Amino acid sequence: MHRKEQIRGNVKRLLAELPKDVELEAAAKTRTTEEIMAAIEAGITIVGENYIQEAERAFKVIGRVVKWHFIGHLQRNKVKKAVDLFDLIETIDSFSIAEEINRVSSKIGKIMPILIEANSGREPQKFGVFPEDVDELVVKISALASVKIVGLMTMGPYEEEIEKLRSYFRETKEMFEQIKKSGIPSVDMRYLSMGMSDSYNIAIEEGANIVRVGTRIFGPRRRV
Ligand SMILES: *Cc1c(COP(=O)(O)O)cnc(C)c1O
Repeated sequence: MHRKEQIRGNVKRLLAELPKDVELEAAAKTRTTEEIMAAIEAGITIVGENYIQEAERAFKVIGRVVKWHFIGHLQRNKVKKAVDLFDLIETIDSFSIAEEINRVSSKIGKIMPILIEANSGREPQKFGVFPEDVDELVVKISALASVKIVGLMTMGPYEEEIEKLRSYFRETKEMFEQIKKSGIPSVDMRYLSMGMSDSYNIAIEEGANIVRVGTRIFGPRRRV
């Protein structure tokens, strides 16, 4: 079957399968603009990008017919481009990067929605804030006028056995609810972004309302 038809079929199957209150984000790293467009034709409304350059290339052609989410690691020197392009940055894990986003956003009169990325597996080599440090970071960032926290994101550790991810998703959901309950002004806990191709079912059972799916939409990744 033609690649684009496969992509369209995959998206339609996923959309039919997911609960109505869960949004399907197409994780687009390494995919061509044509492949992303095929996914959009089949109903994708959120595209997740890990790299600014890839995002710019696709954005030039596709524009604002979809929401663009940044799901990679944001470097300081890319903040300006990220603030211009993205509707949501999902991977904020330090006050200093949030401050830089605040500085750039305030200049152009934008309030940049962000998610805090929790390192739910507490893996030192990975990005994200350790669960015990999430609260403090949320409180600090909530004071920045041109950045708005709208939820949490987590990857979870690599596990051979996918069921083992459940406890990490559960802990992230608990953090999410606790922050929501604490009612910090200007924090609006709406999005919980968890789960990928092999784990979205478990993530949804544990409360995710955005799932980030790449391989299940586009097929195996080509090497870059
Ligand atoms: C690549 C990626 C995904 C999707 O991964 P798949 O296993 O291909 O579904 C989700 N989230 C992030 C942050 C990614 O980099």
